Amino acid sequence: MRTLTQEFVVLPLLTAPPEPRWICDEMLGRLARNLRFLGYDVVYARQRTDSSILEQAKAEDRQVLTRDRGMSERSPRVLLIRSLELDEQLREVSRAYPGLRREVRFVRCSLCNAPLREADRSAPVPPKGVPERHWMSGAPIYVCTSCGQAYWEGSHTDEIRRTLGRVFSSPPGADPGGR
Ligand SMILES: [Zn+2]
Repeated sequence: MRTLTQEFVVLPLLTAPPEPRWICDEMLGRLARNLRFLGYDVVYARQRTDSSILEQAKAEDRQVLTRDRGMSERSPRVLLIRSLELDEQLREVSRAYPGLRREVRFVRCSLCNAPLREADRSAPVPPKGVPERHWMSGAPIYVCTSCGQAYWEGSHTDEIRRTLGRVFSSPPGADPGGR
């Protein structure tokens, strides 16, 4: 006989795996900003102890990206990033997370990690920093819900698209070489 309890059994293994969320240590600010441009939730930990970073990672189910070998040996939750160069750092992340997104998404503020929203088109003036001609063109503009930074297709995305083009022009895991 079926009981009420059985109907409410939670089966976590059958749910889709959640998108990875990270904490980047102080040495990896540029990597953090670029992962946010891909839409990922990335905390940038500045002036924090290893222990407090690891505690937050555990509490919020995040993985830690660090250049500190000592910290990488303290927890399986930590990925050691070996390179000093952004391109190679992104390759290292994509080797560890093969499903890493390869396109820009206007989801997260690259400066503070807060969610973005579409700019209010009924407002009389453009959001701070948005050129008048761009506002008038009607092209999509996104605004950070926390710090107010505005984003749009163009200056903010050209560099990250160039980077992604370089990083992923070779198959993931291939030796980048030629540096
Ligand atoms: Zn922001």
